[in-house]
Amino acid sequence: MIRFENVSKIYPGDFMALEGINLKIEKGEFVSIIGHSGSGKSTLLKLIYAEEQPTEGHVYFNDRPIDSIKRRLLPFFRRNIGTVFQDFKLLPQKTAYENVAYALEVCDETKEDIAEQVPEILDIVGLGDKMEKYPHQLSGGEKQKVCLARAFVRRPLVLIADEPTGNLDPSATLEIVELLLKINTMDTTVVLASHNKSIVDKVNKRVVELENGKIIRDSMIGKYNV
Ligand code: ADP
Ligand code: MG
Repeated sequence: MIRFENVSKIYPGDFMALEGINLKIEKGEFVSIIGHSGSGKSTLLKLIYAEEQPTEGHVYFNDRPIDSIKRRLLPFFRRNIGTVFQDFKLLPQKTAYENVAYALEVCDETKEDIAEQVPEILDIVGLGDKMEKYPHQLSGGEKQKVCLARAFVRRPLVLIADEPTGNLDPSATLEIVELLLKINTMDTTVVLASHNKSIVDKVNKRVVELENGKIIRDSMIGKYNV
């Protein structure tokens, strides 16, 4: 589903953030990307959701090179991909319900569809009773659950989570990891980036480790293939 072929990314100022990346992610996989801060994790994810373009090589999504997608069609391409980040990015003046509904409104979904789907997805993440709360009335873990609901409500093919637990305490972290695993069982490919190895141990799936922009390990937990 996602394929990196000889991908390098050089940022302005000649900084090589990724070098010679070859990586295949199949539909339905759960892949954790780990590595120290600055190793290139976020850059790798940005290449998948077309926030950045490779300097060399290509990234393919369902066999189509992402860099060939016309700029005006990028918003449609991005509908295949849900994203969550460390810093939540919720709209502060909207309730949990409205934040999730907004993701559907911008896709021109009908009011009826929205009224059906939003409570369903908030139930899935365990916030069925907090739909009317504003972000400032929610804990960090609850905010991230709203973000997950918002990213997942259109049932994207891929969910990308960049340090989603970076601002959370250990128990909220565990809940978010469990939700990512649940989302993965609902036919969504998950790509999780984290510098925290203990999270990845909890996930217990495929791990790709980056160091200085290169893949130094690609293995199932406990089984080293590289
Ligand atoms: P990680 O997510 O693993 O911390 P990043 O992909 O964010 O790593 O960054 C990899 C390297 O690329 C870092 O050294 C960072 O400073 C550099 N970098 C990231 N984004 C930019 C940018 N927009 N311009 C210049 N350098 C960047
Ligand atoms: Mg990062």
